[in-house]
Amino acid sequence: MDKLKGRHTPLRRSLWVVGVYLLAGWLWITFSDYLAGQWFPDPEALSRVQTYKGALFVLVTALVLFLVLMRQFNRDRSMLSLHHHQREEIRALNQFRESVIERANVWINVLDPEGRVVLWNAAAEEISGYRRDEVIGSDRIWQWLYPDGDNRARIRERASDIIRDKGEAVGYETRITSRDGCERLISWNARSLRDDDGEIVGSIAIGHDITDIRNAEITIRQRERQLSTLMDNLPGMAYRCLYDEHWTMLFVSSGCRDLTGYEPDELVNNQRISYAELIADGSNDAILRAVESAIGNAEPFSVEYTIVRNDGRSIWVWERGRAVEDNGDLVLEGIILDISDRKALEDELSELAIRDPLTGLFNRREMTRLLDEEIARAERYGRALSLLWIDFDHFKTINDDYGHAAGDSVLKVTSALLAGSVRSVDVIGRFGGEEFVILLPEMDRFEARDTAERLRSLISNTPQPLGDGRTVPLTISVGISVFPDNGTDSRALCAAADRAMYQAKSSGRNRVVLAPLAQEAHNP
Ligand code: GH3
Ligand code: MG
Ligand code: MG
Repeated sequence: MDKLKGRHTPLRRSLWVVGVYLLAGWLWITFSDYLAGQWFPDPEALSRVQTYKGALFVLVTALVLFLVLMRQFNRDRSMLSLHHHQREEIRALNQFRESVIERANVWINVLDPEGRVVLWNAAAEEISGYRRDEVIGSDRIWQWLYPDGDNRARIRERASDIIRDKGEAVGYETRITSRDGCERLISWNARSLRDDDGEIVGSIAIGHDITDIRNAEITIRQRERQLSTLMDNLPGMAYRCLYDEHWTMLFVSSGCRDLTGYEPDELVNNQRISYAELIADGSNDAILRAVESAIGNAEPFSVEYTIVRNDGRSIWVWERGRAVEDNGDLVLEGIILDISDRKALEDELSELAIRDPLTGLFNRREMTRLLDEEIARAERYGRALSLLWIDFDHFKTINDDYGHAAGDSVLKVTSALLAGSVRSVDVIGRFGGEEFVILLPEMDRFEARDTAERLRSLISNTPQPLGDGRTVPLTISVGISVFPDNGTDSRALCAAADRAMYQAKSSGRNRVVLAPLAQEAHNP
């Protein structure tokens, strides 16, 4: 209707102008002639006036015509420039649209109602491998992308539903075969297209190539499965926890049950108990320090400590972990293993390393180390320290008379008797053969002599069992040295005590001899 009105306006306006012109001309001619006849009766003057009047009429009408034409011309010119401007804008918009479609990194295609390709962008070429000039205007692409007939029929059915506006497709996935024969997984969003009159003119489809994403998802799921299988079969508990005072667990593997006696759910988020509460008193500070320094040096940490299980049993664990950033938070990830068996074995081995296997007393190496420790302590606190060097008298004859096993039995029983007859602070060890050393901290030479005398008399008054029901009398000879009088290091103290012991032997055995003081040594 607007267009119709617009088409008739200039004609009407022109008729209107012509009408006004005719009317004005007729009125002018009629009235001006009449008035001129009235005012100028002289025919010559009238004739001149008629000439001027005619000239004036031509001048005025020319001026009016000029103004009308100017106005029209100006209007046309501004209309023309407006149209030009609008055309430019539309062209720019179309160009922009085309370049967006062209450069989009998603597949965009438009189909006509018969399923023929109307638009095919660069991404469509790239993903499918089919060029624009091969697909535009034909529906061959269906055959190429979906070689399997049944599959193609099913997808075309869906596409024609969309074209007939029977619902849009959102995230509709199809597996296309590209030109090089590879399969790609495409997720489609598609809908019908209508023209200005609302007529359906085809459909537009936007496809995302999700092949790589889907493959990555599958790989991640597989890895997750493998990881969880691995974690469930780990000989311990894998964990992920906050770096906080509770060691709040965010995740623990199912190994949590065996390790702690708690269900994973009970530990995660401190639901029933926090991991910090499981750690035996005193260990937490050491763990914290180890973790802190590892974080400071950006390296993994490993710590050993004891935890108390749900059943109250204490176990040794070994933990190795590292700090990682997770959304700006610092979290720890690692594994905790039960090392109680290893610890027990280690303890056993270290005991074996310092003990004499026959008597169970400290061996020579450990005794020497302990002697050094005692000397250092005595020196630091200015206290006395005495050393007894004991050798069994005529022990060889026991071996000779009753056999080596009997000798062993006597060694065991007698050394146990000696060990049980000293203070708990005293230290006793086997130095080799049937020679024993006893360290007597804080005892001076006289107290040491009394102790040695007590031991000598105890042994000589106690027949020693041979292990077969029989007993044998035994005596010991004891040499005594004292710190610092007879030496300030282990070697000097041992040598002095050994010498004193030999003196006891040479003086008839079954006796105690004090190592002489320096002046006594020089003036025997
Ligand atoms: P004395 O010390 O009184 O001079 O005489 P002894 O017979 O005890 O002589 P000595 O101390 O030199 O000899 C120690 C003997 O102890 C030698 C060895 O037969 C015996 N002996 C050393 N170690 C063991 C052992 O582990 N088991 C047994 N059965 N005998 C040992
Ligand atoms: Mg000996
Ligand atoms: Mg001996």
